[in-house]
Amino acid sequence: MHQHFIHNQWTGQGETIDVVDPSTGETYDSILRGTAADVDAAVQSARAAFMGDFGKLTATERGRLLMKLSAKLIEHAEELAQIEARDCGKPLKQARADAAAIARYFEFYGGAADKLMGETIPYQNGYTVLTIREPYGVAAAIVPWNYPMQIFGRSVGGALAAGNTVVVKPAEDACLSLLRVAELARDVGFPAGTLNIVTGYGHEAGADLVAHPGVDHVSFTGSPNVGKLVVKAAIENHTPVTTELGGKSPQIVFEDADLEAMLPVVINAIVQNAGQTCSAGSRLLVQRSIYEKVIALLSGRFAQLKVGSSQMDLDCGPLIRKSQQVRVKSFLDDAQKDGLSIAAQGALADGAPANGFYQVPTLVRDVPITHRLAQEEVFGPVIAAAAFDTEEEAVALANGTDFGLVASVWTRDGGRQMRMARKIRAGQVFINNYGAGGGIELPFGGYKASGHGREKGFEALYGFTQLKTISMRHD
Ligand code: NAD
Repeated sequence: MHQHFIHNQWTGQGETIDVVDPSTGETYDSILRGTAADVDAAVQSARAAFMGDFGKLTATERGRLLMKLSAKLIEHAEELAQIEARDCGKPLKQARADAAAIARYFEFYGGAADKLMGETIPYQNGYTVLTIREPYGVAAAIVPWNYPMQIFGRSVGGALAAGNTVVVKPAEDACLSLLRVAELARDVGFPAGTLNIVTGYGHEAGADLVAHPGVDHVSFTGSPNVGKLVVKAAIENHTPVTTELGGKSPQIVFEDADLEAMLPVVINAIVQNAGQTCSAGSRLLVQRSIYEKVIALLSGRFAQLKVGSSQMDLDCGPLIRKSQQVRVKSFLDDAQKDGLSIAAQGALADGAPANGFYQVPTLVRDVPITHRLAQEEVFGPVIAAAAFDTEEEAVALANGTDFGLVASVWTRDGGRQMRMARKIRAGQVFINNYGAGGGIELPFGGYKASGHGREKGFEALYGFTQLKTISMRHD
């Protein structure tokens, strides 16, 4: 059983939550079901560190601490990848990529910590005006289960680099890697209270954390509905919130695209992490003149995709839990009921454990933009394809959902590349590539229902600070 990590110690007791292996459906561990009292202890510890040992560090010293953690994470990368693979049901190679990513986040933000600067602003004669960036204080991070290490890396790395202390509420479905990361942070010298983790349910410990008056900033990554609840709760205390929510991201293929380059990228964008990626490329929009050809090429490749346990390390692992498996199936049942046809599916590999939460990758064709499958986030390896005729129609379809997280455009026409990039209402547009999950250095976040604010890259640091203007009169 794992306890909370507060003030550099394992602490807490009481009810527990089972930790289930999605590859087998078996319970193999447990975590504590955090309470309001646990959250309060963590916030107080974070406040003490902010006012004390961590708050007193120079930006350079903070940066060095993050770099030390990065080096430690690299040393423990295989151990962390194994923990993450089992906990999330990820194929090992994907968990290894996540372990490399968290180390890179702490390296990037370690290097950035002492490069966060203000400005001097020309003003009236006899004045010097400057801006400084100050940390908020205690930053809360609510982390989902799909990429625990990656999302922790970007939210916590950025918050600490900017000088905040942190309380994390990881997802109840997958958080074991983060508990180990917290221990490694202690080992490299993070002062007590700098980084605290309270495990438990979202509607309990998560809601308590967001509503806590001692929290000065909230970074929430999760579903749009819970994002709304979090914003409403935080506003009661005027606590600023960054939200990183869902997506229904289009991959748009024009007739002049390099199809050989496009095919594996389009497939990976929906199969990675079994489609449980906020920026999954879950819609495929193809120009009509090449639509049948692309569907045929993709179908050939989908038919070869194999699904199995995290240890089997195939194209696709299981979904996170039984209820998610049922939900994804409901989308496919609706599609069939509405007369949509499945162009191709992958297969469950021989030897895949019987009780895992598996869903084979599925390509559904001719999905109208009004259909649920084209509008709602499935969070499974299901891609909805549709044809378009003109550039204008491609833009209208791309922008035709509530979401606006990422999009990709495949074309060799330079003018079209830039027109599409400008017309698509999404936080990131990829031209002839797809960067789901990658690009630690690149600012990331949503338009519309996909969220508010930016994480990743240097830009994120602005979101973890507040700006103070100092105006000096000296005539
Ligand atoms: P979720 O919203 O159910 O849970 C996310 C986190 O919020 C969990 O830690 C959960 O315990 C917590 N939570 C739940 N209710 C809460 C409440 N009332 N108050 C505070 N915290 C609460 O989402 P999920 O199912 O874990 O994750 C999948 C969703 O996350 C998808 O919609 C996905 O697109 C999104 N996501 C977005 C990004 C991004 O960067 N935009 C990245 C990963 C996942």
